[in-house]
Amino acid sequence: MYYSFRNKYLEDLPEEDTVVWRCTKEGCKGWMRDNFAFESKPVCCLCSSPMVSEKKLLPQLFNSNDDLKAVKKGIQIKPAKVTPA
Ligand SMILES: [Zn+2]
Repeated sequence: MYYSFRNKYLEDLPEEDTVVWRCTKEGCKGWMRDNFAFESKPVCCLCSSPMVSEKKLLPQLFNSNDDLKAVKKGIQIKPAKVTPA
């Protein structure tokens, strides 16, 4: 029963056309989502080969966009509390 529940959960996940970057090196499985909004073409994190963008039907991910936007803007996370000396 647990298995079928999990299966249903996966089926319920909405899929969307997602832009991904895929490694051009033959046999390399390196790829990543385009969420990181590179200023220039990225290179594979596994083998440093050039990557090409393509569309892939992927299940929607958890909402990590806000964090990624912060990274894009170069915002540094500061400690919430600063104790004066
Ligand atoms: Zn690669």
